Amino acid sequence: MENIQVMGVQDLPLIHAGDNIAQMICKRVLLQDGDILCIASTIYSKAKGYTKKLSSFTPSERAVRLGKLNGEDPRFVQAVLDASTDIIMEHPFILSEMAFGHIGVRAGVDQSNIEDDMIIFLPPDPMKSALDLQDEIKKNCGRDVGIIITDTCGRSFRRGQTGHAIGWGGFTAIRDFRGDTDLFGHVLKITEEAVADEIAGFANFVMGESNNGVPAVVFRNCPKWTGHDNLYFRNDEDITKKVLKKEWNQ
Ligand code: GDP
Ligand code: MN
Ligand code: MN
Repeated sequence: MENIQVMGVQDLPLIHAGDNIAQMICKRVLLQDGDILCIASTIYSKAKGYTKKLSSFTPSERAVRLGKLNGEDPRFVQAVLDASTDIIMEHPFILSEMAFGHIGVRAGVDQSNIEDDMIIFLPPDPMKSALDLQDEIKKNCGRDVGIIITDTCGRSFRRGQTGHAIGWGGFTAIRDFRGDTDLFGHVLKITEEAVADEIAGFANFVMGESNNGVPAVVFRNCPKWTGHDNLYFRNDEDITKKVLKKEWNQ
């Protein structure tokens, strides 16, 4: 097995709209072909201007109701509703789906690591963002790297948040073990490993959540894998979503 190296990109400044984060990263780390570069969605969104002033939101009736129900600022709730294409659960927190298929708590809208009164949205098309970043890195330092745009997400069944891949490029999100044989020759029928999420999880650990100031992490010497990109369940496959929606609409 290869010796995997993991490096946080140090000394990046606070990111603002218009910043070229690919260039800023290339200036601070000597990337190599085959590296996987994880970038926090937070800085991608700040660089692209996917941020808004909280005071620019006028809460609808629903936002006011959910604000009271969940003890949140109704303007923040309105921002979450705006970012969502489907509300799966309203309480004790909003769980919703976004246009690109991701299901997340409060639609991944953040109020941390940005100025007071500002909120950060997830990038609207993170798969495209990952491909754009791949191109930008290639332009800036001539290297072919894989990209993962990460966000810290809650999960079902277990306490604690972990990093998840919300957009990626340069490899498949899933490593498909189906059809492989185990140590005893049994054929694997089910196992699909969400490699992009596993790498995002470790990247998130290196980034930290507060004032670490490390929004990009490089993975070197990862083994290659093959599989597919259907990381997000289709509607008819997602049994948790079905159960939650049924429960909520009773
Ligand atoms: P998220 O997981 O994408 O929502 O992002 P977080 O707010 O958890 O931040 C992830 C990491 O990036 C943490 O180490 C933050 O301190 C860092 N970070 C966030 N914004 C900036 C920024 O503008 N500049 C730098 N250098 N680091 C940032
Ligand atoms: Mn976030
Ligand atoms: Mn985070």
